[in-house]
Amino acid sequence: MVVLEIKDLHVSIGDKEILKGVNLKTNPGEVHAIMGPNGSGKSTLAYTLLAHPKYQVTKGDILLDGESILELTADQRAKKGLFLAFQYPTEVSGVGFSHFLRTAYNSLSKAMDGDDREVFITVREFQKYLKENIAKVGLREEFLSRYLNEGFSGGEKKRAEVLQMAVLKPKVSILDEPDSGLDIDAVQSVAQAISKVSTKDATVIIITHYARILNFLDKLDYVHVFAEGKVLQTGDASLAQKLEAEGYEWALEKTA
Ligand code: ADP
Ligand code: MG
Repeated sequence: MVVLEIKDLHVSIGDKEILKGVNLKTNPGEVHAIMGPNGSGKSTLAYTLLAHPKYQVTKGDILLDGESILELTADQRAKKGLFLAFQYPTEVSGVGFSHFLRTAYNSLSKAMDGDDREVFITVREFQKYLKENIAKVGLREEFLSRYLNEGFSGGEKKRAEVLQMAVLKPKVSILDEPDSGLDIDAVQSVAQAISKVSTKDATVIIITHYARILNFLDKLDYVHVFAEGKVLQTGDASLAQKLEAEGYEWALEKTA
């Protein structure tokens, strides 16, 4: 059970401040959406949570279960159960998808705090585990024998990210625009995949510009309006509809 807490987080790229005091708290089992216009700092927040070196935290803190993770590297944070699904997943030719998943799984298994996951001794055992999980995200088994993301369609890449989530079982998953660049059918498939791999112990944070992906989720607990480098307002799922109908202007005006 892991609680993520972001406190008055200020982040700069070079001497430009992008995040200007983000506050957010999540509990296990909750699904959160962070909705904001382009350029508002959503990806900056996602990358900062996973310790991307380009982003400097100048003020505030990020806590997991009450402990600051600011000094931890990306792999140390992953071992504590944080996971980021990229907005633009990279094609990695020469690295087999199932090999990649097994390497990631094994490196996390040795270290994740309070880990209760199975240790797969053989490749065959792990393959069986992968096949159970790939069905949940609606990809065919043949994808496992391809190179990571190579030649995958936009929607397949996003579902491949969700498969990583299913396989690695992170405690807090951050998905950066899992809907970007997808047609409506692909958006629905990705949303269903996210709902299928969500568990009562894990937290899911979906970053998006549009409400449409949220409509396909089985469950959505909180919607945060994110603009100008901070969370301006938090509400329930109905807030997403208001944003879709009225845009972000009203939220911005309210704080101006
Ligand atoms: P979002 O994901 O909400 O669209 P980003 O976090 O990608 O927003 O970007 C937030 C702001 O930071 C934008 O104004 C963007 O131009 C700026 N930014 C992003 N990356 C860099 C960079 N490498 N150097 C300078 N500015 C950047
Ligand atoms: Mg972005």
